[in-house]
Amino acid sequence: MSSEPIVYLVGAGPGDPELLTVKARRLLGEADVVVYDRLVSDDIMALIPPGTARINVGKQPNSHPCPQREINALLVNLAKDGKRRVVRLKGGDPLTFGRGSEEMLALAAHDIRCEVVPGITAASGCAAALGIPLTHRGLATGVRYLTGHCREDAELELDWRGLADPDTSLVVYMGKANIGGIADRIINHGLDPATPVAAVCNGTTAAERTVFSTLGDVARATEAAGFEGPVLFIIGRVVNVAGAFRREFGEPDAPEPVRKARLG
Ligand code: SAH
Repeated sequence: MSSEPIVYLVGAGPGDPELLTVKARRLLGEADVVVYDRLVSDDIMALIPPGTARINVGKQPNSHPCPQREINALLVNLAKDGKRRVVRLKGGDPLTFGRGSEEMLALAAHDIRCEVVPGITAASGCAAALGIPLTHRGLATGVRYLTGHCREDAELELDWRGLADPDTSLVVYMGKANIGGIADRIINHGLDPATPVAAVCNGTTAAERTVFSTLGDVARATEAAGFEGPVLFIIGRVVNVAGAFRREFGEPDAPEPVRKARLG
């Protein structure tokens, strides 16, 4: 085995430890040090052997106790200081809205070996937990992952016209604070305010909570829910397919293709 230091950028998935990849699970057992985030669940942290060093670089929304450049420098220094296997554990997939790519580039700039271990991103994890297909014949021909938050709280500049497409499912990450404005902009560009929305908090964990609403009502429903923890919004006709949605709102809301499929 090479003794050259290596940093693994490892996806921890959305929270349920059984959704870790086999590779992520193995690396947690072999790491010399684990550098982790606020999004990594306690159940996953419990899989790290008690003697392994851990460094918390978790961030809270709007306050950044550990700036990204310091995290980058920490990873470089850990590798240079002779830590043979550094695991940088990030919620979901390390290269989806997690700034993992910046860490990867910082390591490359210092010629430090880096390997990316993909994880299940919140969109797939939360959708699967609810039985929402992000694509479905006749309901959605594609899916778009969006950030609902931008740098230094500047105005969100998204492709509003393109997003107002009834045939595309939308998944909004980091959108809890801005979902009202996002929904208004999409409605103003033509998407039906009755489009169903699932807001999932702490998806795939024991604390999972889901609120179904519509694009026109999602801001109120989210506020009323008083969610504590990360929230993901799934917007689109595919939400109607979810078993929980059908139980709450009744069979007639199941979309035509679903009823047809069930009738065979
Ligand atoms: N790299 C992560 C995303 C990091 S951005 C991934 O691939 O999933 C952080 C955002 O992810 C949160 O604001 C929330 O929108 C979403 N998120 C992550 N885990 C979640 C979970 N278990 N339940 C709901 N949303 C989650």
